[in-house]
Amino acid sequence: MALYQKLCNELKLEIMQKAAMVPGMNFFVMYVDRFEDAMPGNDITTQTPRIRAEKIMNEDGVPEDNSAWRQRQNLIKVDAASEKVMMKLINRPSTKKMWPRAPFPESENVEENAYHFCDDDMLCIRFIGIVTAPWTRPVTNPEVFTGIKRVSMEFAFQFVNKKYPEYPFECECEDVEHWGFCPIVLDKFLAYFPDLEKFYFIKKLLKEELHQPEWAVKLLSSKRDRQGQIKTKGKVEVLSLPRITRKQVRKHHFKETYKKFRDIARREGLVSYEDMERHYYEVRECDSEVMLFHDEIWGHFHMLKDLWATQKNTLNLGHEVKEVELGLLVHIDPPQPEPVPARRPIKAAKSQKAKAARSSS
Ligand SMILES: [Zn+2]
Repeated sequence: MALYQKLCNELKLEIMQKAAMVPGMNFFVMYVDRFEDAMPGNDITTQTPRIRAEKIMNEDGVPEDNSAWRQRQNLIKVDAASEKVMMKLINRPSTKKMWPRAPFPESENVEENAYHFCDDDMLCIRFIGIVTAPWTRPVTNPEVFTGIKRVSMEFAFQFVNKKYPEYPFECECEDVEHWGFCPIVLDKFLAYFPDLEKFYFIKKLLKEELHQPEWAVKLLSSKRDRQGQIKTKGKVEVLSLPRITRKQVRKHHFKETYKKFRDIARREGLVSYEDMERHYYEVRECDSEVMLFHDEIWGHFHMLKDLWATQKNTLNLGHEVKEVELGLLVHIDPPQPEPVPARRPIKAAKSQKAKAARSSS
């Protein structure tokens, strides 16, 4: 901070604009409390879903979600220059105040000033409760959802109809059973957002969840001689590499895959987002085949598209067909700091002594 204070305003502005994380990833909890609607004076035939800031804290009392909006709130407090930049960013027509729900006065509580940039940011929803389609039970507070254009959900950690991730999108259909995932539940969920344009699943890229490339399979299944060299006719270049372990192959393949996703996203103008810890890149269906989850994720989306096609051909459906674009965002965990290599003080001291002896002689 000390160095930052000495910078000229132009540099400060540039730093702040970069640090503001636009487009950013914002995490919110959405919950439907049917109990509230059943209270005296309320209408049981309607529902009042809420969206609020993630309230999971770590042991230091710091929120666990790394939303871009939290970073922007922190930047406001740095100095006058940063406040100016942030307020200019926030005071745009497409900015949505997520919490509280009504246009309440500015609050001291940071949680209550969560701003989402509808034109740029991505909203990641963690859902608690039971999805009820708004055409079945009209939403009493539509202003909570208006303007939101892009919504996402963590593929392995989402709460639709369940608090725990064992059975994501569990099916409650009476006539058919959608194994593991119910497109109807997702369709109802998407209907909460009247201005939604695209829905994404977010998937963390994991080493263990990648198909191994052909060269790696060849490499790892080939026989080695006593020197650890691979016995081969030498058709594949990589086979000439000395002693490469299974772990190294995986690590290399993982890094290359992530880089490839990132480069394609940049080159093809696909979306990318940033939060305080990670970068998220859009990955197209044609590029994600390397992931073990490829078939599952896109299979879910194809089921959803089939559902929309059926709905369009249904007479007297009773509600509008809510068809949006579907996509996939991939991220990796931030790199961990390299462990400090264990020192061998005795040997080091010995060699130092030897050096000293050599140089003096
Ligand atoms: Zn179902």
